[in-house]
Amino acid sequence: MSTDIYLDYNGSAPLDPRVLEAMAPVLRDSVGNASSVHRFGRAQAARVDLAREQVSRLVGAAATSHVIFTAGATEANNLALQGLVSDVSPERSRILVSAVEHASVMATADWLAQNGRAKVDIVPVTSDGCVDLAALDEMLGQDVLLVSVMAANSETGVINDLPAIGECVADSGAFFHSDATQIVGRLPFDMASAGVDAASISGHKICGPTGVGALIVTKAMSHQLRPLLLGGGHERGRRSGSLNVSGIVGFGAASEIAADEQSSEAIRVSGLRDALVSKLVHGLDGVSQNGSVSRRLPNTASVRFVGADGDAVMTNMESVAVSSGSACSAGALGPSPVLLAMGVDRAAAEESLRFSLGRFTTAGEIEEAADRTIRAVERVRFLNGSP
Ligand code: PMP
Repeated sequence: MSTDIYLDYNGSAPLDPRVLEAMAPVLRDSVGNASSVHRFGRAQAARVDLAREQVSRLVGAAATSHVIFTAGATEANNLALQGLVSDVSPERSRILVSAVEHASVMATADWLAQNGRAKVDIVPVTSDGCVDLAALDEMLGQDVLLVSVMAANSETGVINDLPAIGECVADSGAFFHSDATQIVGRLPFDMASAGVDAASISGHKICGPTGVGALIVTKAMSHQLRPLLLGGGHERGRRSGSLNVSGIVGFGAASEIAADEQSSEAIRVSGLRDALVSKLVHGLDGVSQNGSVSRRLPNTASVRFVGADGDAVMTNMESVAVSSGSACSAGALGPSPVLLAMGVDRAAAEESLRFSLGRFTTAGEIEEAADRTIRAVERVRFLNGSP
């Protein structure tokens, strides 16, 4: 049996042992609701406050911004879109979302449109996967309430020019939300310089726990945001529910580690990613990459193998965890909507696999993963009768 190699960090990254160490005493020894006024409750609230600072630092949030802890980036994206739109006025009733957003943005926008809560328009992307700035500029107007554009795409790793987008959005008077789930911890992300009013992030993409995330909002947007969950008025009334203190502590610790180590990690991981791609390109004919290779996360490569269906390659490969299409769409079959939106044809999209590396990926694993991928692609091509 060959050893498992995990190259699906964009799907979910492994928990950093240092994060586990930070969480363990909270799970084992701490008791108390963070909203309770007794000593136990106050101690829990202090742990949450520290995590709020750690998360704020990771996204360069202004001191006046609010970190709203959620159950992950899916909830944060829902809160940003639904929470803002609930107070929509007829003059500002349009929202714009990019064509390559995560399902939690796409499905929410779709739901708002279907239920007559907002008019939704999709901003196209160019063939390299970036939001088409000229198209966005044309679509913006005084009737736009919110623009939602992700910072970096989970499938291609392509990075949008948020400061340029933010400038256009600000000129129109709309709010700007960015799903920053994939960029934080991999590259510096700063809400103010990106011109972003709200950012969504998630614990398990930065080697923290799953099931915890945050929407970080500026004061101005926070005033307009209505909660999705009603109850005890936690998180300044924006998200009721007793706080998940151990998860939040882990998320805070993961954020601190990510902020401290992202620059050195990016250099190391991009070297490994480039070595992997180079080995694949030299070992096989018909290998190309999807999306911009210059504006891209350091850990991600979306690779097409001509004549070899991605799912078939995965099935024929000794254990290497990679992803075909949208890993986050539970049980999703079919070609990746992200690649299709970039104008990649259906056959090419089906022949694509995403490799995403991270903190614990080693050079030895990359060598081995490249060999296993080459063998699997050759086998699939042979079974297909390809030359
Ligand atoms: N946005 C992006 C870009 C993602 O990659 C993911 C996770 N696949 C999410 C949102 C959802 O995050 P969570 O799993 O925390 O709900």
